[in-house]
Amino acid sequence: MKVHEYQAKELFTQYGIPVPAGKAAFTVEEAVEAAQDLNLPVVVKAQIHAGGRGKGGGVKLAYQKKEIEQYTRQILGMNLVTHQTGPEGKKVGRLLIEQGINIDRELYFSIVPDRASASVVIMASTEGGMDIEEVAAKTPEKIIKCFVNPLLGIQKYHLRELAFGLKIPNKAMKSFGSMVEGLYTLFMKKDCSLVEINPLVITAEEEIVAADAKLDVDSNALFRQKDIIAYRDTSEEDPLELKASEYDLNYINLDGNIGNIVNGAGLAMATMDIIQAAGAKPANFLDVGGGATSEQVEKALSLILEDENVKGVLINIFGGILRCDVFAKGIVQAAKQAGITVPVVVRMEGTNVEEGRRILDESGLSLQTAEDLADAAQKIAAIVA
Ligand code: GDP
Ligand code: MN
Repeated sequence: MKVHEYQAKELFTQYGIPVPAGKAAFTVEEAVEAAQDLNLPVVVKAQIHAGGRGKGGGVKLAYQKKEIEQYTRQILGMNLVTHQTGPEGKKVGRLLIEQGINIDRELYFSIVPDRASASVVIMASTEGGMDIEEVAAKTPEKIIKCFVNPLLGIQKYHLRELAFGLKIPNKAMKSFGSMVEGLYTLFMKKDCSLVEINPLVITAEEEIVAADAKLDVDSNALFRQKDIIAYRDTSEEDPLELKASEYDLNYINLDGNIGNIVNGAGLAMATMDIIQAAGAKPANFLDVGGGATSEQVEKALSLILEDENVKGVLINIFGGILRCDVFAKGIVQAAKQAGITVPVVVRMEGTNVEEGRRILDESGLSLQTAEDLADAAQKIAAIVA
């Protein structure tokens, strides 16, 4: 789960990581009021669940009082397009009104889990700011990687390696050390999958300040992260994915034309491959899970049919824990409720498959049944031909 920059900065403050003074605002009036406690320049920052806002026009520095309201009106409600939002952009519903800081250097700093080494990796670079992707691609040697054993935590040598690599001024050494320790503790305590500060600023006064903040929490840990759940902003989520999460379905919206309903993530991946091999593109990833109920199957099909790009649906089920007859009942219910508007190919195998096929055959619905995966792929190819 992603949180907004201002929420991440609230957490930063709790863990002793210095951030500029600032306040979130939902309206122009709130923004102007929030700026009254600050000195010029004031930074007006769009709050969306995507980076690259600066380049997209979502971060503006107001050097005069009247510019605060001007930029607020400009950014609030705008459709912000960045390299991370995709061409459709994101509508800005919230702002962060923040004290401008006197930037001397912009560093990059992040913490992520590293599966390959089963450790936590801290990545840092003197080349922070808005072009970090380019630094990583063209000059990867400028990114310091520091591996932390999660059983031992941060050691003094980690701090020295990072501080020297980033050329932290002597005056800021102590606060840099406590910043790193605070961020690491936050990362572990809140079950984060990412914390990122870009830029981590060294000010002209040689102080360290997190000018930006990005924080993702592992959704599987949300049951024990009640304060993080309170930060959820559903207006930032894909509407179909949001609906799917209400029904406990693992659904990811993609931009292809063949919807698919599959049980099991591995089978879902394989199914997406055969769709691709047939010359079509999957419109979604959807795993109804091992123990899906017929109601969930019904929700899954109606969800897929809501996607206007869908030209056909491939249902690929291996009846194990989810029995074929239970599944078939769900499909029949869904088809009757939603009305099938596109060709549907069903490939079903496993427990109670005979009973499942009988239910589908007797339903009077025009479903195409596939003998096996190769046959299913051919039938999909015919739909998109
Ligand atoms: P992002 O583009 O979404 O990553 O948003 P950032 O918060 O990182 O802002 C983009 C850029 O704006 C930063 O790289 C800085 O160069 C600049 N910036 C952000 N905050 C301040 C500030 O307080 N003072 C100044 N002078 N520049 C800022
Ligand atoms: Mn940034």
